[in-house]
Amino acid sequence: MITLESYTNGRWQGGSGESVSLRNPTTEEHIAEVSSHGVDLAAAFSWGREQGGPALREVGFRKRGECLKALSTAIHEHREELLDLSIQSAGTTRSDAKFDIDGATGTLAAYAHFAKAIEEDAFLVDGEGGQLGRTPRFWGQHILVPKHGIAVHINAFNFPVWNMAEKMACSLLAGMPVIEKPGTPTAMLAWRVAQIIVESGLLPGGAFQFVCGGARTLLDHTGPQDCVAFTGSSRTGAHLRSNANAVRHNVHINIEADSLNAAILGPDVDADAEAYGLFLSNVQLDITQKAGQKCTAVRRILVPEERVDEVAQDLCAHLERVKVGDPAERETRMGPLASAAQLEDVTRGIGRLAAEAEVLTGGPERTSEKGYFVAPTLLKAKDPGQGVFHEIEVFGPCATILPYSGEAGDAIALANRGGGGLVASLYSNKRGFAEEVCLGISPWHGRVWIGSDKLADQASPPGTVLPQSYHGGPGRAGGGGELGGLRGLEPYLQRTAVQGFQGWVEKAFGGAEK
Ligand code: NAP
Repeated sequence: MITLESYTNGRWQGGSGESVSLRNPTTEEHIAEVSSHGVDLAAAFSWGREQGGPALREVGFRKRGECLKALSTAIHEHREELLDLSIQSAGTTRSDAKFDIDGATGTLAAYAHFAKAIEEDAFLVDGEGGQLGRTPRFWGQHILVPKHGIAVHINAFNFPVWNMAEKMACSLLAGMPVIEKPGTPTAMLAWRVAQIIVESGLLPGGAFQFVCGGARTLLDHTGPQDCVAFTGSSRTGAHLRSNANAVRHNVHINIEADSLNAAILGPDVDADAEAYGLFLSNVQLDITQKAGQKCTAVRRILVPEERVDEVAQDLCAHLERVKVGDPAERETRMGPLASAAQLEDVTRGIGRLAAEAEVLTGGPERTSEKGYFVAPTLLKAKDPGQGVFHEIEVFGPCATILPYSGEAGDAIALANRGGGGLVASLYSNKRGFAEEVCLGISPWHGRVWIGSDKLADQASPPGTVLPQSYHGGPGRAGGGGELGGLRGLEPYLQRTAVQGFQGWVEKAFGGAEK
């Protein structure tokens, strides 16, 4: 049995008192213990603020970018070991494990690349300067400077490596030290990556700290220069947002929460269209990849009424071909859920949806005596307007077909009933329909992915979060935003409007004119 330790104040330390026991989701065998009790969080915040921040800010954006590239390489060197650990500790297939681990190293490398476009300065120039007074002598220029605090990152269990890396990439490049807290059920993988990061010696002391375990008092230590980036359920997000200390100090809290992502099949996409094949394979992938434990996975499938039976049959055929089982076996395409708690949540959630739907394949039952397995599940709503389909996120391999009229307005109304989403995917070869739906759902979604025959062999699936594109969503999805190239640095930077004599302001802060 391994004890997972936290890395704070320059040393590794196991927690004291009651610990949480982690299990292999396939065999239910105990694999590790974890506790954050006794970790001196106040000292961790001080070490980060006093040592890590100044050391990071001593160099500029480009040097920090080079450091991200080196971190990406250091983690990649352990790829095989990490893939095996993911299979064992998180129940992922090898392909799911690559999605997490290669996604992490790819995102670190992408931010290293974005950094090459930035001046090696202590600040970023934000837009053009402008005249403020009667004459151009009184001039204004916005700049962005690194905050002098700690970036606290609270991550979800489903992407233990990517979630940590995508957040770290943005804060470290911005010049803010991090305290990473992984989701406990899959913390073993995050802990091993944290060891690799520390052992690499690439980051100055205090720039990277790792708190493994519950760490429920993290936000009690935050101050006005700190910020929090959280990924997880909307319930936890709301709880964190109301933390009295964070409220008192107006700590910026970025929330990436859950989302009832919709896939919309356009009325023009018939069975012969390449876009139809794309729709079927993407929906199947979303339901089964990481056993559906993906914030971007499709949960609601909007299908024109007259096509529902045909689409249901085709999707069932796709899902029933998926081999579910031990993720260590080569032919397995879907592994177990990540934990016993997940199994309980998912089976209960499918049961609630099934009460208002027809079960087309799969169902709410556990499918094995050992291990946290359920079957890929497809439902058909009896009434697509029923609240349950637009309110309950089943964070597992389950989605529901919602019939709609085929009119753009109906698709828009149903998609937006999710109350705010991370991504909606839309399949159509008709530009007019695609444009109308895209504009109609954009206010409610952080990303709209449009699939057509022209993209059939070109696009990454809608569930893939790319560092170049914004990731987040309004309302239920948390109201936060991450990534999107250099936009992803914004939570870690203070925007300051510098006003003064044009000659001086432009020379000091005017970017290219300097
Ligand atoms: P969760 O239960 O909300 O937990 C998320 C993180 O918050 C974990 O690290 C958890 O720690 C921590 N946490 C919980 N209560 C806390 C508190 N009072 N103080 C400080 N930290 C606290 O969510 P999850 O089960 O890990 O993840 C699944 C959910 O995340 C799904 O709803 C999914 O849609 C969402 N998600 C969203 C995105 C996105 O980008 N929008 C991405 C992935 C997942 P412990 O694990 O120790 O409890």
